[in-house]
Amino acid sequence: MVEVKVDEEKCDGCGSCVDVCPVEVLEIVEEKSKVKNPDECLACRACEVQCPNTSIEIIE
Ligand code: SF4
Ligand code: SF4
Repeated sequence: MVEVKVDEEKCDGCGSCVDVCPVEVLEIVEEKSKVKNPDECLACRACEVQCPNTSIEIIE
């Protein structure tokens, strides 16, 4: 089970995490990244690496 955590305080809604995720786990809602499909996460950490504000944490 993988947990995808987004720190909304740090997220500026740039959308990079949404673009980089291969399985559409994330979406932008009201200029914040939201986790919509947590069960699909592959723990590839692409979103975590890509985020310019270190707002995402993948916990395995
Ligand atoms: S770790 Fe990979 S699969 Fe999971 S949300 Fe991030 S980019 Fe998507
Ligand atoms: S890449 Fe980071 S700052 Fe940009 S929308 Fe995703 S979580 Fe927010």
